Amino acid sequence: MEVLVTSPWVPREWIRAHGLEPRGAWFAQLDPSGALPEGVCAFAGAMARLHQAQPHAGIVFTTACDQMRRAADATASSGGKHAFLFSLPATWQTSAARKLYHAEVARLGKYLESLGGHTPGEEELMREIRRSEAQRAHRRRILEAGSSSDRGVPLALVGGPLLPSQWSLFDAVEAAGGRVVLNATEPGERSVLPPLPPMAPGQEAVIALADHYFDHAVDVFHRPNTRLYAWLGERLQARGARGILLWAHLACDLWRVEAASLREAFDLPVLVLEAHRVGTGGLRDRQRLGAFIESRR
Ligand code: SF4
Repeated sequence: MEVLVTSPWVPREWIRAHGLEPRGAWFAQLDPSGALPEGVCAFAGAMARLHQAQPHAGIVFTTACDQMRRAADATASSGGKHAFLFSLPATWQTSAARKLYHAEVARLGKYLESLGGHTPGEEELMREIRRSEAQRAHRRRILEAGSSSDRGVPLALVGGPLLPSQWSLFDAVEAAGGRVVLNATEPGERSVLPPLPPMAPGQEAVIALADHYFDHAVDVFHRPNTRLYAWLGERLQARGARGILLWAHLACDLWRVEAASLREAFDLPVLVLEAHRVGTGGLRDRQRLGAFIESRR
């Protein structure tokens, strides 16, 4: 059975070890045409409709933002039977937040069993952890190779979910004379965890896995958001980014309000690109993009 996951901070290995198939919701078939009520983020709106297209799949929502909570409520109230709301702690500096995350991973396990999954043994989970580690290592290599070109104005793309239907943004950047040297959207580089450190003797695999996700989630909903800024700062400098493209879904206040702070923290110009729908950006964005890149030459 497929389990659609709407956040990078829900351990895929845990789902697979239960004998179920995790799938990033970014890659699910989304309906780009449905009308959205005013004030609804296009991504959260698309997530709220996922169960209609895939009624037999499990869907894991998170409490990352109010919009996503509402998508989980809307799914439940419109008959979606397999939704689960994972409480992602907004804080990350306290042991209470870590405990909450551990408890949510355990609760997710019970939910997966309710979908027909089985309780994984230690070796089964370790196998899935190793498999994910290998996949992430592969992704890291691709991302590093992707940033080795030296043509075009180097720019960082920072923000929320960037769906396959929106990947033409990369072409638009290139056509305007830029190149993306850091993709800090979802499910881009920001969503790729670093390698799991060696486990302490006697440590349970599920605890090590939960701690790793908890310690390396880099997102805008965290308070304080210093982890996001530290992660970005290191990479913006290393890649020589000359500007930031802030990818913010319309009605996503969480990302939009970062524009001024990003400008100030990194002393770089920021262009806000609004994603109105789950389709691609329009001509207005292209023109603004062209002018922005021209100004950074
Ligand atoms: S883009 Fe913003 S509003 Fe939409 S789901 Fe993500 S954090 Fe929430």
